[in-house]
Amino acid sequence: MKRLLFKILRYSGLPLLFREIWQRRKVTILLFHDIDRATAEKTFDYLSSRYNIISLDRFVQACLRRDAGAIPEKAMILTFDDGHIGNHAIKPVVERLNIPVTIFLCAGIINTNRHYWFTWPHPGIGKSALKRMPNREKLRLLAESGFRVNREFDAPQAMSLEQINDLKGVIDLQAHTIFHPILPQCDDDEAHEEIVTAKKILERLLDLEISSIAYPNGDYCDRDIELAKEAGYRSGITVDFGFNTIDSDLFRLKRLSVNDTKNLDELAVKASGVWAFFKTRNGKKQDHGFMNRPYAGKPVVKHI
Ligand SMILES: [Zn+2]
Repeated sequence: MKRLLFKILRYSGLPLLFREIWQRRKVTILLFHDIDRATAEKTFDYLSSRYNIISLDRFVQACLRRDAGAIPEKAMILTFDDGHIGNHAIKPVVERLNIPVTIFLCAGIINTNRHYWFTWPHPGIGKSALKRMPNREKLRLLAESGFRVNREFDAPQAMSLEQINDLKGVIDLQAHTIFHPILPQCDDDEAHEEIVTAKKILERLLDLEISSIAYPNGDYCDRDIELAKEAGYRSGITVDFGFNTIDSDLFRLKRLSVNDTKNLDELAVKASGVWAFFKTRNGKKQDHGFMNRPYAGKPVVKHI
């Protein structure tokens, strides 16, 4: 049923209209998680023939220099969250098309056999309920059914250091915290660790400068932005609906999820923003994003 809807929407001309009018002078950031090589071939071919794929860094630099001329029309940035083991397979596609891609890595999960907490089949409580509770409470509940963030399983879910090193120079590598908590559900100490320490771990491990963070699940609060700035990141990426310009808040960059689809109709509809525009009523009705978490003033950033 949905397939038909995507086909109708695609050929309704709306994606074309969004692209030629709304996206023309804006920067669209897309979110992927884990697509296989064949999907990457199809997806990146489609996108690179309709948009100008630019790097996240090029956009951030243009914003910092207030240089709108440095950004082409219909600019698009491709990003992947989590650092899934399957991400390594997109390397040849990225090389063939010579396009920039950014992968946001979980510093505590890459290069281990640890698992992402949200893949653990916790009995009784759904993922969305776990996301809505304080992080310590969530971890306590998960521990009852045998999950710990540092438990080593038989097989990895994230890329190894060897795989990541192989992507260096081809793919831009950035931060997605350590263990992928819902940041606004973290207390100040946890948030500090997940934001500030993640950057240090990745920089040490990869011998790279880490300058951007994608907030897990697209959830963030003022404190998290403050911590990201103090840690030295230059941008923070959300999953808030919308497009970006050089006037955008660099710590609240907007991004569209394309649901890792293999279907080109769905891709066309989602990459143009048509889907999220209607689904979130132009960003007014989202189930993730900014959380107004009360906290006692500016947190102290500990320097280690
Ligand atoms: Zn994620």
